[in-house]
Amino acid sequence: MTLNIAPANNTNSKTLQYFCFKCNALLKETSRPIAYVSTSERCPSCGSLLVESLRERILKGRPTFDTKALREK
Ligand SMILES: [Zn+2]
Repeated sequence: MTLNIAPANNTNSKTLQYFCFKCNALLKETSRPIAYVSTSERCPSCGSLLVESLRERILKGRPTFDTKALREK
């Protein structure tokens, strides 16, 4: 029997994850896009300004990543 790795949850709604691309800290997980980031907000982990370091990735049924940053490990 072949191993079939299923996603952790089978919800159809997508999840948006916002993270700092400099330190990869997950900052926010939401189902709605963030429209605005304050210019004075900083990453609590590395202190980068979020207007520069905040990146978005979309979680769906399977792991697709929209940014290159995630591939650097
Ligand atoms: Zn950071």
